[in-house]
Amino acid sequence: MAVTKTNFINYSRCPRYVALDDLKHEKLNSMVTLEEYRKEEESEILKELLGDMYDEEGNDLIDTKNEHLEVMLPYYNAVELLAGSIAPKYFDGTFKYSKDTLEQESFDALINNIRYICYVDIYNETKDGFNIIEAKATTTKKYIDLGCKQNNEFNSIFMKDEKGIYHLLEELNVNIEDYMPMKKYEYNRAKLFDRYAAAGHYVYDLAVQRYIIENDLKAHGEENKIKNVRYYLTVLNHEYVFDGKYDRGEPVYDTDANGNEIVCFIDLTEITKEYMDKIDLDRQRVEGYIHDLKASEVPLGEYCEIKKMTKCKYSKICWSKLPKTNSIMAYIDGHHGFKDIDGNKYERFDLINDGYLSMLDVPEKMLNRQKNVIQRRALESGKPYINKNKIIDGIKQIEYPVYHLDFETFPCPLPRYRGEKCYTQSVFQFSLHIESAPGVCDKEKDHYGFLAPDHKDHREELVKYMCELIGDKGTVLVYNDSFEKTRIKELAEIFPEYKTKLLKIRSMIFDLMNIVKTKSSLYETLGYDKEEAKMFNYYNAHMTGSFSIKKVLPIFSTLTYQGMEIGNGVEALITYANFPKMDKLDFEHKYQKLVEYCKQDTWAMYCVLEGLKQEVDIYSLN
Ligand code: SF4
Repeated sequence: MAVTKTNFINYSRCPRYVALDDLKHEKLNSMVTLEEYRKEEESEILKELLGDMYDEEGNDLIDTKNEHLEVMLPYYNAVELLAGSIAPKYFDGTFKYSKDTLEQESFDALINNIRYICYVDIYNETKDGFNIIEAKATTTKKYIDLGCKQNNEFNSIFMKDEKGIYHLLEELNVNIEDYMPMKKYEYNRAKLFDRYAAAGHYVYDLAVQRYIIENDLKAHGEENKIKNVRYYLTVLNHEYVFDGKYDRGEPVYDTDANGNEIVCFIDLTEITKEYMDKIDLDRQRVEGYIHDLKASEVPLGEYCEIKKMTKCKYSKICWSKLPKTNSIMAYIDGHHGFKDIDGNKYERFDLINDGYLSMLDVPEKMLNRQKNVIQRRALESGKPYINKNKIIDGIKQIEYPVYHLDFETFPCPLPRYRGEKCYTQSVFQFSLHIESAPGVCDKEKDHYGFLAPDHKDHREELVKYMCELIGDKGTVLVYNDSFEKTRIKELAEIFPEYKTKLLKIRSMIFDLMNIVKTKSSLYETLGYDKEEAKMFNYYNAHMTGSFSIKKVLPIFSTLTYQGMEIGNGVEALITYANFPKMDKLDFEHKYQKLVEYCKQDTWAMYCVLEGLKQEVDIYSLN
């Protein structure tokens, strides 16, 4: 039988995965075809791409079907080919890379009758040995962010050598303590060994690759070559700024104005070497699991990667024992664990595996966070928690007219337009409802918007129209303001002509979430003490631990996204991404649906604000 690198990584999660996989596909009795290998890889790649495209708030979108997401694959393939074309600037020798797996270099190792297989993204043969370069459509930020501040300057555990390749500080001729205390260095370095953490995820992948390659070499009597193989990740450079140059309709990613290439190379040879014993143990575990094939329940754990894009594909089966709403997972900050009155700490997974599945199962004495107590009371009593005074004071901060604003964006791995970076949230649509006076807003008549009709650069038209619509007085209301604020700031840098107006719009932004959740600094300014300022303003058990607008809306309104052809952000993005492929009729239909979706988002804000006003009887106070 054969086990691919991707399967190895999944099989080593827990004993149950292999058995469930076997039940589903009878895969273990068969050999792996190239086509199957490609599909497995693509499925993992898509998850990884999405992982970089969405933050925690995107969790409810994880289950969006893969076929919808395949629209992103060409961008991934382009990353791999770009890295292959840039690699000769950094490495000597010959290169083998292709988007066709069949043409990639492959290795396989036969251990205890199991064939472990891997294909190499970029195989670079040098005069002394060879380099293995794995391309990932993530960014350098994950690695460069590992570090800390020293003398007011952020230093990473990684630094470029004279050629421009990133290495750990310990591999360069530098004194680590000049950059950070040794303890901090080791703390951050350890994250590379956490396969379930953002940076460690890819390191583990590369280490499995190395394990297979070394065993292949050993099996062929080429053990002496092992010391001459180096292992690199190549990832998108988060500092690269695209100058907007196109040639025959294709973007040209030359070195940018600051000398940055669009991809960077990170040398992980020493780190993956340290990993080898661990991978060998994981391989032994995997073999045990394959041998036993037990599909019975196992403890749930970090390896399920629940609430992440990389979550286990069988989580629906294993996690179904938890209630759909208000499970223990809904306790805000529950990932930090729980503490009883004597200071004993209980990890969330331990509690789950001991049968504490619902919020109500967790003994009250373990709820050491006031916000969790509020959640518990709201669930037990069926009544919402509400701090009327804070809500009233929050609403009073809103000036009229109110511009309810929302953007739709396309976070493309490769920048498409001038001034963009990799994964820039490229704005292609806005929706605006103008509420001229309290409660005065018509869903249709007071709605304005812009939607790019194709993939050409329409940002300036969008900016111009938005600037025309939004006056100099009033409030620009958004939900979760950091997103819109950042987009407007980016647009202001790219379009200096509109900078003053855009920054004015930005200064008018007020976050509706601050009224529902809270914002300590705002409420402290309004005279609330620290404790009260940081506590929620509103909590209802139907929110099941989330303050996202999709959870808050049904509480304050009958408005629903159900039944809408485009009903969430990922569907909106995919629809836009597919514009160029659509025929005229299909395009006109989808265009309209996308307008409706974005309109619903800003109308939802109006409804939530109205609902909050009713909740605190604001109109009777005026
Ligand atoms: S969901 Fe968790 S327990 Fe179930 S198969 Fe996946 S990793 Fe194992």
